[in-house]
Amino acid sequence: MPTHADDPSVLLTQDLIRRPSVSPEDQGCLQLIGQRLEAIGFRVERMPFGPVENIWALHGTERPVLCFAGHTDVVPTGPREEWHTDPFEPVVRDGILYGRGAADMKSGLAAMVVATERFIAKHPNHKGTLAYLLTSDEEGPSVDGTRRVMEVLEARNEKIDYCVVGEPSSTEKLGDMIKIGRRGSLSGKLTVHGVQGHVAYPHLADNPVHAVAPALAELAARVWDKGNEFFQPTTFQISNISAGTGAPNVIPGEFRGRFNIRFSTEQTVEKLQSTITEILNRHKVNYTLEWFVSGLPFFTAPGALSKAVVQAIQEKANRTPELSTTGGTSDGRFIAPTGAQVVELGVINATIHKVNENVRVDDIVTLTSMYERVMELMLAQ
Ligand SMILES: [Zn+2]
Repeated sequence: MPTHADDPSVLLTQDLIRRPSVSPEDQGCLQLIGQRLEAIGFRVERMPFGPVENIWALHGTERPVLCFAGHTDVVPTGPREEWHTDPFEPVVRDGILYGRGAADMKSGLAAMVVATERFIAKHPNHKGTLAYLLTSDEEGPSVDGTRRVMEVLEARNEKIDYCVVGEPSSTEKLGDMIKIGRRGSLSGKLTVHGVQGHVAYPHLADNPVHAVAPALAELAARVWDKGNEFFQPTTFQISNISAGTGAPNVIPGEFRGRFNIRFSTEQTVEKLQSTITEILNRHKVNYTLEWFVSGLPFFTAPGALSKAVVQAIQEKANRTPELSTTGGTSDGRFIAPTGAQVVELGVINATIHKVNENVRVDDIVTLTSMYERVMELMLAQ
């Protein structure tokens, strides 16, 4: 008797895991997916940038455009000896599939592709356009991936109306959570300049740690905002600090620190930057500060796409998802600003980026049926 382990979506997940596509490597994942899409009539366009592979694929010519988005790259394995099985040799044990990328997000990619094959077999003349935007650079710098493809599409005036990102959005049960936005991420690299000297002669030195410590305490204790209906409050975290020569009797000449802010739609980059520089200036810190914006917050107000995704989850898993904006950033940050509705729906994220990453085989099969239902609700004639 066939089991779920033989389902095409599970077999394709395994084929993808066998390709060790540690970011930004693709290792043939997109070629495999591209061939599957071409076989059902998609026009597949390769868009390589530097070491990064991307594809943009279309089935249909009309609006609305419903796009599936995701990434083939995975994070490194971590200590191999802590894996119970080879991370790039998929193994199913007791209904669980193990391997790097099993949850983030090769099962999501496989579910999309198999769902699309089934949908097009039933609805070859669907309305609108089905699209795929896939990259091998989501886990890395995320510069030559979705960001660049979106620039090309914008320049060609090609639009995405609705986008389903297959990132693992679920927490305990498949479909218990979908993401309708993400917080923004702003990082700072802070260097505080002092004067090195002997600890016994502090009047001849200028201790940068003493100068910056009260400012850091104020930043760490600050309540930035209370968030809003869809966003958690903005948070500030110091992630790295260093100063000193290692000797106990030397006042350091320089302090280096890094911090990151995850911010809600209650903030802007400019507002955050001016608050932080005001605090540093008020404490008379002599500093230089470099900023890096890794993503602006984005948010899709509940609408046609989130309604279809919620309905598909209710029908296929008999539960109603929480609509959330929690977690790290995702490539949705590059797609949403062009006006697309963006919803993330994928498998349980409990083991992503960890050793022994895994996914429930049944969840891959159910996720496939959810994606197919979303296509029906959005594009069936
Ligand atoms: Zn991911």
